[in-house]
Amino acid sequence: MPASDTANLITSLVIPSRVAVSDISDPLFVHKKVCVQLLRLDQTDPLLSGNKAFKLIPNLLIARGAGFDTVLSFGGAYSNHIHALAEAGHRFNFQTIAVIRGDDGQPDSPTLQFAVSRGMRLIRVSRQEYRRRNEAQFIEQLKDTLGAFYLIPEGGANEAGLRGSKQLASVIDNSLVSEWPDEIVLACGTGATMAGLISGIAEKYAAGSMRQGSPLPFIRGIAVLKQGEFLRSDIARYLQTLHASDTAGLNWEIETSYHWGGYARFPADLAKFMSDFEREQNILLDPVYTAKMMSAIYQRVAADQYKPGSRLLLLHTGGLQGRKARAD
Ligand SMILES: *Cc1c(COP(=O)(O)O)cnc(C)c1O
Repeated sequence: MPASDTANLITSLVIPSRVAVSDISDPLFVHKKVCVQLLRLDQTDPLLSGNKAFKLIPNLLIARGAGFDTVLSFGGAYSNHIHALAEAGHRFNFQTIAVIRGDDGQPDSPTLQFAVSRGMRLIRVSRQEYRRRNEAQFIEQLKDTLGAFYLIPEGGANEAGLRGSKQLASVIDNSLVSEWPDEIVLACGTGATMAGLISGIAEKYAAGSMRQGSPLPFIRGIAVLKQGEFLRSDIARYLQTLHASDTAGLNWEIETSYHWGGYARFPADLAKFMSDFEREQNILLDPVYTAKMMSAIYQRVAADQYKPGSRLLLLHTGGLQGRKARAD
């Protein structure tokens, strides 16, 4: 098979061109006359879903094209990215290695158990060592011990990952049944997915290829970590990488007050919100990203931050594998 056919095949196996959209009906939204829909990126594949697939696939295509059979990346013990990489490596015949943060002797998380079951090799390093993950010298040391590998940074946030995230714009365009919403909302960790989305939409808009009559949506990122202000400059930098610093008048903002105490913090009130939502809507969320995004929207609608008649599209960016850790 020619390389470009292999590339199209791998992409189409993992990333469908169209994704289900769920209506979120809630008395609050009815009362405030705000239409809320959820793009179900969590449903694209049983084991390789969500935004991580978008960032991963172009990286794997580059790795294959360059002749690498080993891919190495970094993450925590509950990382959605490591889970996706382990599954992708298994399916598409790559050796995978993950450098895992923290060696505090905890038993393996369900995420890491899954990764090992998919043939991934785990290298545990201390938190201190893990901080060196972007240092050239540290990478060289890893190559000396492990041999050649294609490196994907933590969370898949490199140029290929950004380009992969741009594809979200086409997926949204194909998945909508009418014109684009007034606002698109997503959870942000590194902001790479949001930068890709902004650039993809700006490009589509400039090319006149958004479904007919669609206005430019506002893009709102919900920071899931404390002091998420850094995301504004990181996203601006990612947009430069994508040569998309001119975003055709598209506006975006990062919300920094919906982190619930910090990354992976999951206070009782958020847990209650998540279980109520899941029961009422019959849609699962993950505790780290999508529960915070969803609860932010409930808070914003309740606080009249949207005009009656507003239409919102929220991205369910996946991460449901991380629920297992809580269930145990
Ligand atoms: C990683 C992740 C995000 C954040 O993506 P970034 O590109 O790092 O901002 C959002 N939602 C889920 C479920 C994720 O796993």
